[in-house]
Amino acid sequence: MSFKLPDLPYERSDLEPRVSLRTMDFHHGKHHQTYVDNLNKQIAGTKFEGDTLETIVTESEGGIFNNAAQVWNHKFFFDSFSPSGGGHPQDELARAIERDFGSFDKFREEFSRAAVTLFGSGWAWLVKTSKGTLDIIQESNAGNPIRRGFSPVFTIDVWEHAYYLDYQNRRPEYVKALWEIVNWPLVSSRF
Ligand code: MN
Repeated sequence: MSFKLPDLPYERSDLEPRVSLRTMDFHHGKHHQTYVDNLNKQIAGTKFEGDTLETIVTESEGGIFNNAAQVWNHKFFFDSFSPSGGGHPQDELARAIERDFGSFDKFREEFSRAAVTLFGSGWAWLVKTSKGTLDIIQESNAGNPIRRGFSPVFTIDVWEHAYYLDYQNRRPEYVKALWEIVNWPLVSSRF
């Protein structure tokens, strides 16, 4: 069994103008596809062949880990947005954000700072800890919080390939635009 590029829950042009069709063609069609293809090549004939993606992300190292985590991270990231998104989280996640960050605005500010200040390529994550609290963490490169025992709730990809075509070096503008398309009902369902 080999891994396949996951479908998006919207059309590639649907997130315009915040994320252009051109960016989505490269990001989903080229980058995400390449991680899938490389993962399939690299696990062939290894003990990871036939394992779930989560198992490979948790237990592998080196190139297999990098590609497996990037496959997982990108699906999680792309699924988090919707052309009708924006606004605020719901229900229990909304209450937990107020409890752990003070307010939604403070959370958004702190998460944006984590995304903007992450040096080089990587991911900013909102995670649920084993105690049920929320935390914001930065991961470099393909880093994935499930390896540290956290449950991911939301993420922003800050690799330059995620925003360079639309925003060039203006990462803060890209991060700001993404808040306007977050699919909060979906994100809240992960909490
Ligand atoms: Mn990416």
